[in-house]
Amino acid sequence: MNRALVVGAGIAGLSAALRLHRAGWRVTVLERSPRLRDGGYVVAFGGLGYDAAERMGILPALRERVLPSGELVFVRPDGRVRYRIPTSTVESLRGRRDLNLLRGDLESVLHDSVRAHADIRFGTTVTAIEQDDRRVRATLSDGSAEEADLLVGADGLHSTVRELVFGPERRFRLDLNHIASVFMLRECPSAVAGRSTASLTATGRTLAVLRLDDERSAAFFGYRTDDPDRQLALGPRKALPAEYGDMGWLAPDVLAQLPDAEPVYFDTVSQMRVDRWSRGRVVLLGDAAWCVTLFAGYGSSLAVGGADLLGAALERDSVEVALREWEARLRPEAERKQQLGRRVKGLYAPADPFRLWLRDLPLRLAAVRPVTRFLQRRLQLTG
Ligand SMILES: Cc1cc2nc3c(=O)[nH]c(=O)nc-3n(C[C@H](O)[C@H](O)[C@H](O)COP(=O)(O)OP(=O)(O)OC[C@H]3O[C@@H](n4cnc5c(N)ncnc54)[C@H](O)[C@@H]3O)c2cc1C
Repeated sequence: MNRALVVGAGIAGLSAALRLHRAGWRVTVLERSPRLRDGGYVVAFGGLGYDAAERMGILPALRERVLPSGELVFVRPDGRVRYRIPTSTVESLRGRRDLNLLRGDLESVLHDSVRAHADIRFGTTVTAIEQDDRRVRATLSDGSAEEADLLVGADGLHSTVRELVFGPERRFRLDLNHIASVFMLRECPSAVAGRSTASLTATGRTLAVLRLDDERSAAFFGYRTDDPDRQLALGPRKALPAEYGDMGWLAPDVLAQLPDAEPVYFDTVSQMRVDRWSRGRVVLLGDAAWCVTLFAGYGSSLAVGGADLLGAALERDSVEVALREWEARLRPEAERKQQLGRRVKGLYAPADPFRLWLRDLPLRLAAVRPVTRFLQRRLQLTG
């Protein structure tokens, strides 16, 4: 029986584990965190990932976790409403084959589906990787060693597997000069009513408060920076008050919840440009390989869809041929989404009032049918 070692139990790693198990492989997963992460942020899950989830039989479980769509409310600094996009327009923009999910819920469904079939080791990572043309050997952080026919690096944007086998992160990372941060709120500010997302965009920064369902709400921060590494070094608890302390509106309420928030997602918005996603028997998957970014809104879909296509390719061919054909099939779609991410990056935190006005023009008219279709085309939504 073929053996796979998967590094990372995020969306990409758990999908790969499930799909390779279905392809008849014995799978071990290494996850650095002590346990499965929960919460996270909201992802729109459609396209290639939705089709793959249907084939993998996890769609019914995902449907049970779907967050209802809500209206989008865009406000002025004093909290007065500038304009709204009603729920019905949000739904028709996104189309029927698209689910609104918390990242943690998507991971938990994948974990439930695969945990009986794979050896998942939390609190463990990889410290060295060697390979020849038949096997790959990994040294683990607990001092043990594992051999496999294939090692899947699904360990995200700052991948250790990529660093060990492909080279330093700097060589591949294209910064889009923004920081994104999300955390779940203990208490949703009462100004955000019903199932809605309220957001304030000022020059170079956006704050959004999302009321997800009756119990859960989250805060999203997205801002421009010329020096993402400096922001990363500061970390969320210093950087967010410095960037948003003078914003007004709901910023003081939300920032007051930051000290106790756990976990806090805080990272650069960066793409990975890796010329080939495999080296011998080591393959990168998900954000480790391509990271299309939240601007493209498609990374979780590509992670699940990419894992499904990888499993299908390995069912048909030898590892060498499968990796080549898999990449030839997937790369055009990943690069199209990367281009989208670069093209729309200004929408989240427009650089000046004129660009903000330009951004808002089609959004204000989003409910008008031809404008809905224009937005679907521009944002590559399936509709
Ligand atoms: C704010 C935000 C909004 C987004 N919105 C959308 C959206 O609407 N639609 C969409 O499709 N996508 C969206 N995305 C993108 C999507 O969430 C990612 O593309 C997806 O989570 C990538 O999954 P991954 O498994 O490749 O990486 P990750 O989610 O980064 O998971 C990597 C896993 O590997 C583990 N790990 C890391 N290093 C190691 C190591 N050395 N050893 C072992 N384990 C390790 C981590 O703990 C983690 O569990 C969004 C992203 C953000 C930040």
